[in-house]
Amino acid sequence: MSIQTSALVAESAGAPFVQRTVEHRDLGDNDILIDIAYAGICHSDIHQVREEWGRAIFPMVPGHEIAGTVAAVGSAVTRHKVGDRVGVGCMVDSCGDCEQCKDGQEQFCLNGNVMTYNGRGYDGNPTLGGYAQQVVVTERFAVKIPEGIELDEAAPLLCAGITVWSPLQRWGAGPGKKVAVVGLGGLGHMAVKLAAALGAEVTGISRSEDKKDDATALGATGYIAATRRTLAENRGKFDLIINTVSAPLAMNDYLGLLKPQGALVNVGIPSENYDVAPFAVVGGSKVLAGSNIGGIPETQAMLDFCAEHGIGATIETITADEVDAAYERVVAGDVRYRVVIDTSTIKVG
Ligand code: NAP
Ligand code: ZN
Repeated sequence: MSIQTSALVAESAGAPFVQRTVEHRDLGDNDILIDIAYAGICHSDIHQVREEWGRAIFPMVPGHEIAGTVAAVGSAVTRHKVGDRVGVGCMVDSCGDCEQCKDGQEQFCLNGNVMTYNGRGYDGNPTLGGYAQQVVVTERFAVKIPEGIELDEAAPLLCAGITVWSPLQRWGAGPGKKVAVVGLGGLGHMAVKLAAALGAEVTGISRSEDKKDDATALGATGYIAATRRTLAENRGKFDLIINTVSAPLAMNDYLGLLKPQGALVNVGIPSENYDVAPFAVVGGSKVLAGSNIGGIPETQAMLDFCAEHGIGATIETITADEVDAAYERVVAGDVRYRVVIDTSTIKVG
């Protein structure tokens, strides 16, 4: 016996989505079954469906920005009950025993965590993600979505939100700090909202003037339409830069924007390498860093902060038929600011 659910499936790399039934494992003692209401489209979904990061597992059901309600619980489940509003991000299991898991940093699990899709569970079976009506996950990997955040605006917080929250926390974004966010897309718009709510002075950096008014509405007080000239004019200004761009960036120019000892944190994962001059980091003793999603306790803390500050993602909701077209719009930078799939529109047969 297994659990059947309607899903959006890419049968092979870059193939258009088809709507059909897929199977999840039956509920284990520590598992919960979630009725998915909404799933965000992250640029990482596109990188993986198109094999821009290397070989992927097909058929693929992408989606790691999942918001819904608990439909059933296994016999040993203690954290969640039927009807609870929950979210699932990029991971659905980890060993739970290693020092990283014990520290709440499941993204660094020393025995290999299980990604929500394009991964394999500890049972060896491929994982299937959130572009579906249901998913089965280990209870530890579902977080509570507090009342006060609508499920559609909550879904993107599970990846876009936590991915920028984690470096903002680690690098001390807050009052007295000047933070720049490069790339105003799904991750970038959340970085602006969260950094502003944390009390930092925020500047949005985008490819054109088009998003200037939006950046202000999101909480930025500064804005740079990036050219070599405007970047040069803003040299030495920022304590922290969060780079969310999904394509390679002229890293030396952006390192130039930092104050001495400032940090530039890459969260964008283009398939090509960056070109970095040694002096761009050594001069000014700068930090060039990366950041990978965030752990489960940190994800819950981010959601609680968002509820307290009235923060959700700025979204466009689409139906299942519109996902292929939405991918093109994401790649073109034409989304303001996250596309969310209403999974009730997935139709099979
Ligand atoms: P997105 O919504 O497409 O936003 C990316 C933004 O980058 C665009 O809105 C655009 O901003 C800018 N951009 C795109 N192409 C560009 C180009 N050729 N030159 C300059 N700027 C460009 O993507 P996302 O979902 O936020 O994801 C962003 C990246 O983060 C992806 O590579 C994704 O895989 C990665 N990611 C990493 C993690 C992690 O754990 N580190 C987690 C999730 C996602 P403007 O229009 O403002 O210029
Ligand atoms: Zn993501």
